[in-house]
Amino acid sequence: MIILGVESTAHTFGVGIVTSDGAIVANVTDSFTSTEGGMIPHEIADHHKNVAEKVLAKAFTDAGKSWSDINFIAYSAGPGLDPALWAGYNIVKEWSEKYGKKIVGVNHCAAHLSIGAVWNKMTDPVYLYVSGVNTQIIVQEGGKYKVIGETLDLGLGNMLDKFARLLQLGFPGGPKIEILAKNGKYVELPYVVKGMDVSFSGILTKIQQLYERKQASKEDLCFSVQETCFAMLTEVVERAMAHTEKKELLLVGGVGANKRFCEMLNIMCTERGTQFYNVPMNLAGDQGAMIAWEGFLRKDTYSDMEVNPHWRVDEV
Ligand code: AMP
Ligand code: MG
Repeated sequence: MIILGVESTAHTFGVGIVTSDGAIVANVTDSFTSTEGGMIPHEIADHHKNVAEKVLAKAFTDAGKSWSDINFIAYSAGPGLDPALWAGYNIVKEWSEKYGKKIVGVNHCAAHLSIGAVWNKMTDPVYLYVSGVNTQIIVQEGGKYKVIGETLDLGLGNMLDKFARLLQLGFPGGPKIEILAKNGKYVELPYVVKGMDVSFSGILTKIQQLYERKQASKEDLCFSVQETCFAMLTEVVERAMAHTEKKELLLVGGVGANKRFCEMLNIMCTERGTQFYNVPMNLAGDQGAMIAWEGFLRKDTYSDMEVNPHWRVDEV
């Protein structure tokens, strides 16, 4: 079986093609970026409409496949930005009708988890999912995902992007913050862990103030925001691993591309005698291969469901 997956929940439009044994034969993305400012929903929707055919064509070329090889189309039904989701859904509907393919709506967050698990050939990790919108600690119980800790306000990626916007670093900001952080030293910031949950909005306010009042350099703030937020998540995840007695940790989501974050989690896991896993850069952020794979796993449960911008992973 060969599945085509379409991603469009946020700034990335992606088309991936996977086989039913978990092999990724194409994974093409085109992401909305800006040199200043952040994500503007209607601009993102226009972006997706403009690049869709080009991304699809490249995916078919990379895979050496065409529509006749595809069994069905999986798409990201949510969670995500409403205009971006609708742009993706309308494109998928058009392809589905034109080429006579069934469509399967899947949960974007669950797709991040399942592609990480199949890539690393793991069965039952603690998942740490840190993307633009989401920051969650997740485990599987009785075949269902259960969120055992999460951000009480912003997702870490969005928080970093907001700060980067103030620094005029452009979007996405996380990678630029990582570079500046290399030349920074520590300034004290609020450290906000509440039980198994974390909160980033107070930290954002603090770094914005320190920057605007010229009380700390860009580099020091980038370094300190990383150290603080990554330490908070490492603490909560360590508790999750101790409590659940799980032996593997899997980091997924775009913020998982950060080397310092991986280093901290790896140290924690090594000290506990457990194993840290992440995914290669091209599978960390949003892309279509994960949607295709999740579609394969859910093909008998889900079908066309339009979009669901607030679909939580624990409702899958
Ligand atoms: P996703 O929503 O999974 O595609 O992840 C996108 C988010 O990941 C954005 O908020 C980016 O700023 C963030 N991100 C990407 N690369 C890095 C990095 N190297 N360090 C920190 N955050 C990053
Ligand atoms: Mg994502």
